[in-house]
Amino acid sequence: MPEDEPPAALPVRGPFTAENAAAYFRRALRLRCPVCGEHPIFAPLRGVRSLGQWLTPLDGCPRCRYRYEREPGYFLLATWAFNYVAVGGAALLAWFLLATFTAIPLVPMLFLLLVPMPLASLLFARHAKAFWLAFDHFVDPKRKKSPRPPGSRTRA
Ligand SMILES: [Zn+2]
Repeated sequence: MPEDEPPAALPVRGPFTAENAAAYFRRALRLRCPVCGEHPIFAPLRGVRSLGQWLTPLDGCPRCRYRYEREPGYFLLATWAFNYVAVGGAALLAWFLLATFTAIPLVPMLFLLLVPMPLASLLFARHAKAFWLAFDHFVDPKRKKSPRPPGSRTRA
């Protein structure tokens, strides 16, 4: 046995286990910290007074010190890859189902599908960011230690 291999008795647990993926997915569904699953990523609904508060995550998790938004633009891919694709995909699926099983004319169908999309995108924005955090933590968990404690966010 080569020296650099772990002993066979130790469990092989890496970041790419189905167990980890399921745990991170559940935490994202509940809008919780992907690392500990205890603390929320966003301010509670009753404390939201503006669209900015709705869309902006808290600084980080006070328990595990995981920083939610590590750099400006961190959630850009969350918006495109998770939010827009999910909302657009849902609209395409709805269009397919409506076109297959109903006789709604094209213009009312477009109105029916396109008008709710911006609202659906806003409603799904928090979960898109939570899924992005979970995905990022799943594929790259080793760089999650925050160099600064949450709450000490400085913007240049
Ligand atoms: Zn945490």
